[in-house]
Amino acid sequence: MSRTVYVNGEFVPEEAATVSVFDRGFLFADGVYEVTSVLGGRLVDFDGHAARLERSLSELDMPVPLARDALLEIHRRLVADNRIEDGLVYLQVTRGAADRDFAYPDADTPQTVVLFTQSKPGLADSPQSRTGLSVVTLPDLRWDRRDIKTVQLLYPSMAKMEARARGADDAWMVEDGAVTEGTSNNAYIVKNGTIVTRQLGSEILHGITRSAVLRFAREAQMKVEERAFTVEEAQAADEAFVTSASSFVTAVTRIDGRAVGDGAPGPVARRLREIYLDESLKSAL
Ligand code: PMP
Repeated sequence: MSRTVYVNGEFVPEEAATVSVFDRGFLFADGVYEVTSVLGGRLVDFDGHAARLERSLSELDMPVPLARDALLEIHRRLVADNRIEDGLVYLQVTRGAADRDFAYPDADTPQTVVLFTQSKPGLADSPQSRTGLSVVTLPDLRWDRRDIKTVQLLYPSMAKMEARARGADDAWMVEDGAVTEGTSNNAYIVKNGTIVTRQLGSEILHGITRSAVLRFAREAQMKVEERAFTVEEAQAADEAFVTSASSFVTAVTRIDGRAVGDGAPGPVARRLREIYLDESLKSAL
């Protein structure tokens, strides 16, 4: 069945949705995006994603094309029209279409705004959430502004393919001996009950799930350290896990072929997943 998608103010069938070949998102990856998960037909952490979108746009000197309540209405309409029970809403904003030039076009060039849904039945109960993920480590070859959620995703995509070629599920990226993050998630280890995850900075994306999970962990009296950790430290940890809007909290059970802990999802990751799902469902919109 054809989905309804949103393009520049209109709700249209996906076959009829088009953007210009001159779009700067296409030519320069000059655009930002967000992915908001949908559980039981409701949006998880919508405000966090909207706030990060506004920040990404501002870091790239782009205006915010739609007020937050208008954006929420578009999300809700797409979820309703496409009958999304569990899945995602993808949103992308680019600097718009202009004759190809490295310099930005005039500020009055209309931005391109696209939103579409992906249905993912059973999103919160994926097989990988029960077994955990295997990751391999690869050098982090991305640019230095990973805190801006741009559509410049070629390296993470290459890293994901390399992980698959090595028989793993995903890659953790490493810079100066320390893990930055996963290809599309934030990375954590647990040692003697302490949760360790890299501190915020331009080296990682400021995950919306990360921020909620750390808040819930602290509220549950768990100890949290925000600092860099090495691959060796991760392999010797009791547990490892990742967070993202689409995977919530998912255990990592192998790193470069070595089992983490006993090789099964650990109690801290399982508990945080449960708390995150419970709490975020309560506040879902
Ligand atoms: N890091 C990277 C590189 C990502 O692509 C993502 C997912 N967009 C995350 C972390 C997790 O962020 P969030 O929890 O906001 O989905």
